[in-house]
Amino acid sequence: MSQTSPDQILSVLKSQITDYDNKCEVEETGRIIQIGDGIVTIYGINHAMYGELVIFETGVKGIIQNLEAKTVSAVLLGSDYGLSEGSKVTRTKRMAGINVSDKMIGRVLNALGEPIDGLGDIEADDFYPIENEAPGVTARKSVNTPLQTGILAIDAMFPIGRGQRELIIGDRQTGKTSIAIDTIINQKDKDVICIYVAIGQKASTVAKIVSTLKKYNALSYSIIVSSPASDPAPLQYISPYSGTAVAEYFMHKGKDVLIVYDDLSKHATAYRAMSLLLQRPPGREAYPGDVFYLHSRLLERSSRLDDEHGGGSITALPIIETLAGDVSAYIPTNVISITDGQIFLESELFFSGIRPAVNVGLSVSRVGGAAQTKAMKKVSGSLRIDLAQFREMEVFTQFSSELDPSTKELLDYGNILVELLKQPLYRPLPLHEQVIILSAATQKVFMDVPVKKLKSFCSDMMGYFEIHYHDVIEEIDTKKVMTDELAAKIRQGACEFKKSLPNT
Ligand code: ATP
Ligand code: MG
Repeated sequence: MSQTSPDQILSVLKSQITDYDNKCEVEETGRIIQIGDGIVTIYGINHAMYGELVIFETGVKGIIQNLEAKTVSAVLLGSDYGLSEGSKVTRTKRMAGINVSDKMIGRVLNALGEPIDGLGDIEADDFYPIENEAPGVTARKSVNTPLQTGILAIDAMFPIGRGQRELIIGDRQTGKTSIAIDTIINQKDKDVICIYVAIGQKASTVAKIVSTLKKYNALSYSIIVSSPASDPAPLQYISPYSGTAVAEYFMHKGKDVLIVYDDLSKHATAYRAMSLLLQRPPGREAYPGDVFYLHSRLLERSSRLDDEHGGGSITALPIIETLAGDVSAYIPTNVISITDGQIFLESELFFSGIRPAVNVGLSVSRVGGAAQTKAMKKVSGSLRIDLAQFREMEVFTQFSSELDPSTKELLDYGNILVELLKQPLYRPLPLHEQVIILSAATQKVFMDVPVKKLKSFCSDMMGYFEIHYHDVIEEIDTKKVMTDELAAKIRQGACEFKKSLPNT
């Protein structure tokens, strides 16, 4: 055994004194006193804030949800495996948040913003809290730029503007998700980042949506945030907030963002499960008393910022599932009153073949014409009234065989409009196509075309316009206004095309 010389001891002592770093870190820790169903009661961290992130000894995170006299309760954001009474909990002293990055585009994330598509980690650019205050009145600009869905029935009658919140509501299997996906597909080359938040859905449904977006080259500007039905309720609860945090990151960079919450009914259910486990008192339909605030604070974060704040926007398309068309249930009425309008989808229409099954009478866009191009506004002006008149007349004339010519014309015209508004999946229409078709329809060009052949007639007619009337298409796309000359030209083109056909 070698002897250590006094010099060596001295040098070690010296280096310890010079390198002494008196940085001391105080960690506030507590202990679990009860754990079960993803809810943890903790003793010892009574300075913890509401909404603060805490870390358990297994590395799993939690969010403080209840502050009580002697204890605090947190929800677990992961598995409770390895945790038991007495396990250590550490405060982070910061609100729950997620890492955000430009590289999230094209990826599939979980509710905590971590990639789950197996394509590798995402480097963080910034950290955003999942709960954030909505922009104030002075930071906002009015909604006046259209966000085209590519769905004729919606763009013509219930236009959506950038920064608007438009609810998609309907029973199960009425095409709610399809409308949102079509809208995302239609944002191609429009400089809009799309975020699809799947809450409490089957993992297979989410996988199908991802593959659809990939197929239509829409994944390159989209982000999927998925919290499937198998996720614990707290993760489902935070997923729309996480999605919005990502949206805010892009909005603050001046980008236009479209966010779809599919769907908020399941979100409310997850929140109800969590609240009941937290022993909060149940209210109407067993939802907790703050379920309105749950959605209002989420949807208020969608806005259009003024130029001083970067000019970005978040447009939200929340989805709500109703039971037997009952829009007066608790959650539907709440969300209807928060949003700037709703698109009401009806099973009856859906099964009778009118797809998208938009109920014209019950749907509305409170932003309306302000979010439409002038051209679209002009050609779609009378559409809702014409359809309403048609519906009324249709019921009225159901039993009479003898119809006077004006009534017959009204019915024929109505049938044509209904047929025109039908649209297959994944076939969003560009603005010029919508305007030309509606302009020709309102100028009664289609009156002698058999209704059954109308769809193929229209698509062939568009081909004819591409070749012979390209200037019309260009004018609509660039100037976006409808003049009398342009309308006359569309009529002329459509009539020419009709004459060129053998038997119409
Ligand atoms: P869920 O309640 O299960 O979420 P949903 O209301 O979101 O259903 P979708 O999944 O969008 O409805 O659509 C239900 C079915 O209807 C799908 O099989 C879809 O292919 C079909 N569908 C939706 N829209 C159209 C359309 N415009 N044309 C033809 N089929 C459609
Ligand atoms: Mg759906």
